[in-house]
This record gives sequence, structure tokens and C-alpha cells, in this order.
Amino acid sequence: MPDTFPRYRGRFAPSPTGPLHFGSLITACASYLDTRAHGGQWLLRVDDLDQTRVRPGADKAILTTLKRFGFRWDKEPIRQSDRTVRYQWALARLTGQNLVYACDCSRKRIREAGLAGVEGPRYPGYCRHRGLSDDGKIALRVALPNETLCIDDAIQGRLCQQLAVEVGDFVIRRADRCFAYQLAVVMDDADQGISHVIRGADLLQSTPRQVWLQHRLGLATPQYAHAPLARDAQGRKLSKQDMARPVDAANPLPTLRAAIAFLGQPTAEVSSDLESFWRQAIDNWSLDRVASKR
Ligand code: GLU
Repeated sequence: MPDTFPRYRGRFAPSPTGPLHFGSLITACASYLDTRAHGGQWLLRVDDLDQTRVRPGADKAILTTLKRFGFRWDKEPIRQSDRTVRYQWALARLTGQNLVYACDCSRKRIREAGLAGVEGPRYPGYCRHRGLSDDGKIALRVALPNETLCIDDAIQGRLCQQLAVEVGDFVIRRADRCFAYQLAVVMDDADQGISHVIRGADLLQSTPRQVWLQHRLGLATPQYAHAPLARDAQGRKLSKQDMARPVDAANPLPTLRAAIAFLGQPTAEVSSDLESFWRQAIDNWSLDRVASKR
């Protein structure tokens, strides 16, 4: 069950698909600084839901790197791979509201339907009324209502999405039985009692769908803030899959300064040790400066 909510609780949820790279460090810094500046608690979660993408040892390596960079967390990290029971609970609640249906459509079929959504081809709802049964080897989707859902993001401003038209019925459990990120993240944030989610802007478009799930599941909605993404020289988002270079844990200060500079924070004070770097960065932190960088 959810912990009692403190006034402010933030989190960082890396996927252990490779070492920590600069893009993730920026997100970690934004969440950590905003949390500490509010006197809040900061929690970690290992997003290892999709075992096909997990790289052995990456979880430990990420935690070690964070520690070397001077991040401190307030509880033992949790991992999604331990939380299937909670995802099943969510699935049962949604099923009880007649919102879930089984679907055997291939990606090709969806592509050929030619409908565009915010994240590429949108599911046209073929299986909504086919009444396929869940044999455990079939994907499950939620039937979205014709509803516009708006969120007020502390960095990106207001985002309104017409869920059925812009997103389409999305998968909550894949055919390989892996629960989808969208469902897991909602349960994870709720159970960890997260009040403020600060993460990369690549997840902004996912947020209305997560808020919709929170409403259906009777969960509180955190305050969201989506930080701008670091890009490589070709303008692409840095990600572990792109093999973005891991951050150098042997020499954290220059990288930390670059990260907070990217977030629009002052770096004028020269700190020669991690502890004073963090003290100054927390004292100087302003989320508004991140917003003006976007
Ligand atoms: N695990 C996701 C990532 O590494 C972040 C999920 C989230 O912050 O909601 O991109």
C-alpha cells in the first residue's frame, strides 16, 4: 500500500539497459535538486520491467555511479521486476471496469491502417469488439474514451491530449506477459508515494495517458515536470541504446557542472569538492530557470 505522502517526494527511475549517460544524469540532477531544495525525500527505482532490454550488472553500475556523483537516496531502491503482483492488481481493476480487451493484431496490421498518433502509428481499435479471450499469450489493451485530458507541466506548460484520437487504445500487457511501462510507472509512482515527477521530455506525451490510468485506478496524480533533452551533435536525443558515452565517475565535478549548466542553473561558484557543489547547487536551484531554457 502507498506510504503516507510527505510534502515532497521525488524519484529517479533509470532503466538498467546500459551505464548512466549524460542525458540521464541531467534528469537525475533536476529531480534531485528540486527535491532537496524543497526539503523532500528522494527515491530510486530500477525500471527493469522489460527483461529483454536489461543488461546484466547495469543496475549496480548505475547506483554506484550515482553514489560517486554524490547523490543520496532516502530508502532502499525498489525494482519493477519484484512488483508484478501490483501490476496484476491494476489490471484486475481496469478489467473490472470493462476497459480491457485482448488483441492479436500485428505491428504490420496497425501500420497498414495508416492512422497517425503522437507516437507513430495509432491502433485503430480492430479488436475492441472481437471478444478475444486472454489466454496469457495475447496483448491486452485499454479502450480509451473520447475524452480530452490536460496536464499542467511545471516546465513545459499545459498539454491537452484527445486520448482516443492522438494516442489510441494502448497496450498495458504485452503478448510476452510483460506489463507495459505506462501501467507499471503509474503503480510504481503511487506505491512509492511520489508527489513530484521530474523526468525527460521524451515522456511528456505519455503523461496524459498515465494520468488517465491514475483516475481509473483511484490514484493521486503527482506534479509533473519534463526537463529538456540533451542532444548529440546530430540533434538526436542521447540514450543508452544510441550508446551515448557513459559519464566518467572518476571525475564527477566537471560533468555535474555541465549538467546543471544545461538546466540553466548558475555555475559561477567554483566548488572543489562534491559536498559543497551540492550545497551550492541546492541553494541556487530554480525550476523556473529550466523552463526558460526549453
Ligand atoms: N525508466 C525510464 C527511462 O529510463 C524513465 C521512466 C520515468 O521516469 O517515468 O527513461
